[in-house]
Amino acid sequence: MEYIEPHAHMVSRVTDDYERLALAGCVAVCEPAFWAGFDRGGPEGFHDYFRQLTEHEPKRAARFGLRHFCWLCLNPKEAEDLTLAAEVLALIPQFLERPNVLGIGEIGLNKNSRNELRVLEMHVDLAARHNQLILVHTPHLEDKLKGTRLILDVLKNDRRIRPERVIIDHVEEHTVKLVLDRGHWAGMTLYPETKCSPARAIDILETFGTERLWLNSACDWGVSDPLAVPKAALEMRRRGHRLADIERVLYHNPRRFLSQCPKFRLSAP
Ligand SMILES: [Zn+2]
Repeated sequence: MEYIEPHAHMVSRVTDDYERLALAGCVAVCEPAFWAGFDRGGPEGFHDYFRQLTEHEPKRAARFGLRHFCWLCLNPKEAEDLTLAAEVLALIPQFLERPNVLGIGEIGLNKNSRNELRVLEMHVDLAARHNQLILVHTPHLEDKLKGTRLILDVLKNDRRIRPERVIIDHVEEHTVKLVLDRGHWAGMTLYPETKCSPARAIDILETFGTERLWLNSACDWGVSDPLAVPKAALEMRRRGHRLADIERVLYHNPRRFLSQCPKFRLSAP
């Protein structure tokens, strides 16, 4: 079965992971801009990172027949420094026309601080001005619910933003309905240790349905599993879900959302 990995930080993964993804049926991998695990020294570090996401990773993926797409932003973990944020945001427009860039992400909140909120608003404004899709990270700390509410309000307060062009990622049982009720898409992240296990994610699908939902591994430099999505498909099979329903969540849903960006194509360039 073919599937799409809509959220993976491949710059931190080895090339063998691309091969494993391809062997498991993955046809496209989408990489939001993220924290490197340490704070970058300045805007030059982000400039090089954006080049890596738009020039180098698509080539690494193409060796295994995989399409690689990315999202650009300054991640919430480095958003405390407003000067750095302004400098990095000024770099982004020159990359937006590149062929594998899908939009602005993963923006959002980490500790729900005032500066993080300000930088979130700056990113939403950037996306609106350049008519970009948005991918949002929600906090993993105990205040996920509060952070999700704050993010939803920022999006609602900007009248230029169309809710169906925004995906809110890392939803859990207590946030998924809020997100879907606002007309956004919702992403569930499958992690071996924190966030959703495959069993929890499929419980959520069984409770809330499969409309406007997708699954991702969000694999990065930490403990994570690039094959979490196909493993969730196995769990769905085990529970007796029909193949067509599994394909809807793993392939057709991400394709539908991402195709709102005309650059999202699954055939070879
Ligand atoms: Zn991520």
